[in-house]
Amino acid sequence: MDNILLKVENLKKYYSVGKSLFEKPKTLKAIDDISFYIKKGETVSLVGESGCGKSTTGKMILRIEDPTDGKIIYNGNDIVKLSKKELSEYRKKVQIIFQDPYSSLNPRWKVGQIIGEPLLLSGQKIENYKEKILEIMDKVGLLQDHFDRYPHQFSGGQRQRICIARSLILRPELIVCDEPVSALDVSIQSQVLNLLLELQKEFNLTYLFISHDLSVVNHISNRIIVMYLGKIVESGSADAIINNPRHPYTKALLSAVPEVSAERKKERLILQGDIPTPLNPPPGCRFSTRCPFAKSECSEIDMNLIEIEKEHYTACPFQ
Ligand code: ADP
Ligand code: MG
Repeated sequence: MDNILLKVENLKKYYSVGKSLFEKPKTLKAIDDISFYIKKGETVSLVGESGCGKSTTGKMILRIEDPTDGKIIYNGNDIVKLSKKELSEYRKKVQIIFQDPYSSLNPRWKVGQIIGEPLLLSGQKIENYKEKILEIMDKVGLLQDHFDRYPHQFSGGQRQRICIARSLILRPELIVCDEPVSALDVSIQSQVLNLLLELQKEFNLTYLFISHDLSVVNHISNRIIVMYLGKIVESGSADAIINNPRHPYTKALLSAVPEVSAERKKERLILQGDIPTPLNPPPGCRFSTRCPFAKSECSEIDMNLIEIEKEHYTACPFQ
């Protein structure tokens, strides 16, 4: 398939935890063999409850974390194998926006300095430094006057605009948006989502959008990938996932979002219990301990994705 910007193949991230004098280290399988792709210009969303491995996936794509195993292929090159120099080039093309616009901004720096820092660090010759920053500030809806202000003088939504401007200053191709609106008031969330959509068109951006909330990603995604305990349980077009979900976990996530699933009320599934720990995931289908349709075989199946219609995959063989 051409037109693919990013391809993740059999990616794994295992952490060794609980190392102490009296305890044997245990393996926490944060990501356990996931594969997916993102086409140029698409918005692909990763959704799932907290702890399922969304941020870890994002961090590996940015090479903030190294994978335990697997490939991350960007524009045809495996970025796990890049040299230092190649990695610094790659890092100009791929940026991240974090959830918390409060802690990701240096409180002692002025807004212009914060937004411009990646330019200075990039090592490229900089002409029209201030103009470049003012131009990007304008694109994200900040005023020229804001250049010399400090982050604490801004509201949450405006601070997220500062983070977005900073992520755009090097004109990247792919932006990993890790819960970019989760810390914002609901009324502000749609403003920031709309801004991200406008910027995507203007700068030909590709987004990997991470959220625990399906209602947030519903309107902005081309495709949605649903994760559970380090595994992908379903993926497909946003329309297929929202209107024709085939994995019980996706159905349960949708049931928790009343406005998305109004016409699906009949099928309301309420998740029981907490997510099991990734230190000791259930055998077979990891969702089987909370699945209302679980059968005895479910503890023995492997969670391979089955294509049920074009580009719509589910890990549940019984749906
Ligand atoms: P999400 O973003 O979906 O909420 P994360 O990717 O942050 O989930 O975490 C996935 C799992 O990996 C969680 O169980 C988390 O506790 C664990 N984890 C994340 N980072 C580390 C780390 N540095 N060391 C040990 N465990 C970690
Ligand atoms: Mg996270």
